[in-house]
Amino acid sequence: MSPARVIDGREVAAAVRARVGKEVEKLAGEGVRPGLATVLVGEDPASEIYVRMKREDSATVGIESFHHEPGGDVSEPELAELLETLNSDDRVDGILLQLPLPAGLDETDMTALIDPAKDVDGLTPINAGLLAQGRPGLVACTPLGVMELLRVAEVELEGAGAVVVGRSQLVGRPLAALLLAANATVTHCHSRTRDLAAVCREADVLIAAAGSPGLITGDMVGEGAVVVDVGTNRTDAGLVGDVAFASASARAGAITPVPGGVGPMTRAMLLANTVAAARARRAVGGRLPSPG
Ligand code: NAP
Repeated sequence: MSPARVIDGREVAAAVRARVGKEVEKLAGEGVRPGLATVLVGEDPASEIYVRMKREDSATVGIESFHHEPGGDVSEPELAELLETLNSDDRVDGILLQLPLPAGLDETDMTALIDPAKDVDGLTPINAGLLAQGRPGLVACTPLGVMELLRVAEVELEGAGAVVVGRSQLVGRPLAALLLAANATVTHCHSRTRDLAAVCREADVLIAAAGSPGLITGDMVGEGAVVVDVGTNRTDAGLVGDVAFASASARAGAITPVPGGVGPMTRAMLLANTVAAARARRAVGGRLPSPG
């Protein structure tokens, strides 16, 4: 079999950014400038880089950026007060609370304080619940990015067997819900799954989101399957995914690389979500899309 087609996340992300840039221009004509607030708590070096890139992305497409850096010693009531201020700031359409939070701050409790209409990470119980019910809402950026990659790569999901490895709130769960909404037959795997290899081999579409470098090897990939690698693992060998790319691409029909696959899509979908939130919140011709 010939080696797999490589799905280029950078190219698809650039197309999303271009689309969002046009939307922002259109909104400017309607007197609206979308705004994204980023909140970085403490001094996690990886988070600092992520937030900086998200702010740069915002500037590129014309989204106004509001940045806040409470120190690592901020208390829960103080952080809650900042989030409340952003909730009531009409210039702010999206609020991104960068995770992980320093020890002592409860991520679930803090995230839940974000106004669901501004929850561009899709992590509040309201948006997670809406997605679980197949109703319109804001959806987490990484799963949305995976769905956009699959759409652009023209992967048929209707009736396809999709296997998702990983069940986090941020990636695995929302992704499984989106695939189900797209009428895939979804199998959801996690650390207690028995014979992961056998389950994965059955997949038409295999999504790895486990945070375990090289977990998915070629022998776990069915001939011609579409493999999406969400994993982003920093190792001595550099940034690697959850999929052993060389062996998996010898069997897959199409595959995403790391880096250059899902990562750029996450950033691009944050911009798309901010504009969608702005349209819906400010009632300028926008309702949030339904999953599927
Ligand atoms: P997470 O919260 O740690 O969840 C990992 C999930 O994978 C858990 O459900 C866990 O199962 C499962 N898992 C772990 N090891 C496994 C194994 N050996 N076999 C089967 N399942 C296993 O991680 P996350 O936040 O979802 O992130 C997953 C990966 O995606 C990480 O590498 C992360 O850096 C990356 N990521 C990338 C992007 C991007 O933009 N590219 C965005 C977000 C995350 P249990 O539930 O049973 O523990």
